[in-house]
Amino acid sequence: MNAAGHQALMGRRTFLQQFSALTAAAIPHLSIDSKVNSKRMKEKFDAIIVGGSYAGLSAAMALGRALRKVLLIDAGKPANRFTPYSHNFITHDGKRPDEIATLARQQVAKYSSVQQVEGFVVSTEKVEQEFIVGLDTGDQFVSTKLIFATGIVDLMPAIPGFADCWGKSVLHCPYCHGYEVRNTRTGILGNGDYAFDFGSLISNWTRELIIFTNGPATLNEEQKSKLDQHHIPVVEHRIKALHHDQGYLKSISFENGRSTMVSTLYARPEFKQHTNLPAQLGCELTPEGYIKTDSSHRTTVPGVYACGDNVTRLRTVSNAVAMGTVAGMMANKDLITETF
Ligand SMILES: Cc1cc2nc3c(=O)[nH]c(=O)nc-3n(C[C@H](O)[C@H](O)[C@H](O)COP(=O)(O)OP(=O)(O)OC[C@H]3O[C@@H](n4cnc5c(N)ncnc54)[C@H](O)[C@@H]3O)c2cc1C
Repeated sequence: MNAAGHQALMGRRTFLQQFSALTAAAIPHLSIDSKVNSKRMKEKFDAIIVGGSYAGLSAAMALGRALRKVLLIDAGKPANRFTPYSHNFITHDGKRPDEIATLARQQVAKYSSVQQVEGFVVSTEKVEQEFIVGLDTGDQFVSTKLIFATGIVDLMPAIPGFADCWGKSVLHCPYCHGYEVRNTRTGILGNGDYAFDFGSLISNWTRELIIFTNGPATLNEEQKSKLDQHHIPVVEHRIKALHHDQGYLKSISFENGRSTMVSTLYARPEFKQHTNLPAQLGCELTPEGYIKTDSSHRTTVPGVYACGDNVTRLRTVSNAVAMGTVAGMMANKDLITETF
């Protein structure tokens, strides 16, 4: 029987008494470092989920529905918090991102074996077959499975105005926002193969398209000629600033004193993982910097799963939700397989 099942049968007080005794007995054989040791060890969970946005909440729901005792820890910084409206997630199209997340949290809250806490996880350690998870408050928790649903951080380039427009008129994905800005005068900030590929993609949504390479173009002759055939100019001037009204782009100015009117700009900024904890635990990363997983969202470290933006460049809420569901289901399946 899993931890939640025990809890239901024993009653909360008995469970806590017995659990404290069990935990206290378990602590001595764990090689917990001195920093972790200085704090009181807390409850044990079947699974701890680090990151409680779309992927993490979906994993929590799958595990909650599987009667698992789960702790979901979230620091409240989802990637899409800069955008006013989220699109292309069926049943939620056009809702505010926080509206979707709030509803998700309410739905997960129905599953009493899932605890949701606000917090920032600063340490994860594997000790034998368990994980010790530490928060910045010093609190620690123990689990059998660990799921990272931690997302990524977009690194804003040092172009004045870029960060102000991010998510409003500087966009990462046409499937999320392209419909709303269709047929507007649109730029692509990029160079080489990326600019060419993105240019061909975005030409689906607008005919007024310009590629800004922000320096000498690295497009090959074939790419230049194809862009020319499709009337997509390539501007190589170095960008000085993006000019906007409350995040809504008006024009781009260049270091050479020129400027051009544009109301939409697509860009793919550099990114980093929201946390280095998976890498510190030994989870392998892909050459692009994502956490490597199999199709069941298992990482290369047994017992550790990852889902959502931290594993793929296909960034959509619906994809994060789907991945979170699979990670939760697979963590539960693995728990069953290991004990049945
Ligand atoms: C500007 C912008 C606009 C977008 N618009 C759309 C759209 O319209 N439609 C769409 O489908 N998709 C959109 N997306 C993509 C979508 O936001 C992501 O695919 C989705 O948020 C990924 O969900 P996630 O749960 O993997 O990560 P996130 O939503 O980024 O959440 C990760 C969570 O983990 C938490 N976390 C990280 N590290 C820790 C830690 N150490 N301890 C505790 N918590 C931690 C973070 O605080 C955060 O709350 C947009 C993305 C961006 C950047």
